[in-house]
Amino acid sequence: MKVALLSESPADETALRVLVGAVLRATPRFVAPGFRARGWPNVAQLMPAVIRHLHFNTDTDVLVVVVDADDSVVHLAEHDRPGYFHPHCRMCQLRAVHRQTTKKLPAAHGRARVVRAIGVAVPAIEAWYLCGRDPTVNEAAWVAGREGGRPPYSRAELKLRVYGTDRPSLPHEITCALQEVERHRHDTRRLEHDFRGFAALASDLRAARAEPAESAPPGSGQPG
Ligand SMILES: [Zn+2]
Repeated sequence: MKVALLSESPADETALRVLVGAVLRATPRFVAPGFRARGWPNVAQLMPAVIRHLHFNTDTDVLVVVVDADDSVVHLAEHDRPGYFHPHCRMCQLRAVHRQTTKKLPAAHGRARVVRAIGVAVPAIEAWYLCGRDPTVNEAAWVAGREGGRPPYSRAELKLRVYGTDRPSLPHEITCALQEVERHRHDTRRLEHDFRGFAALASDLRAARAEPAESAPPGSGQPG
């Protein structure tokens, strides 16, 4: 399986490679280097061009996109209802961008489309890094705190807990990120349990693995 990553930083990408491999229980082939966006809304803006490029110019099977939720609406179970779309939820928005971009693409390289695997880290990827180390940090705590008007932690606090500073250098950020995701290398269940935005990513990845190449019409390209 060939996987491309679209994320917000080189540190995120390094950690995500480990987590994607952990979910798939195998190291996929990664498109290198990954695609990088400068935060939101740049990710959603870049995504159509990335999808079209991967579709026509490569044999990539899956595009992994991971963004921080920041203060946006958190994706809830009710958003998964068929036809439902929350305009302020980044998961709903990114899924819609993928749907709209791939809808009219002709088959290429033996597959109908590049499949998506989308994760949203609530409120930031540092919360995922703290999973299994700091039990107060999880998606439910964030949602409950925000509903009560008092978020349980800020993004700066999460950075401080992970990096020891809220302004880490890139090498320090990568070192810390790799250290933290090591806990999940052989088992991502805790991360999936505590973070629905990660569980959604894992579920997309497993669906993609179950069906590595979506069937393309006969004669539409060479086998992938
Ligand atoms: Zn949503």
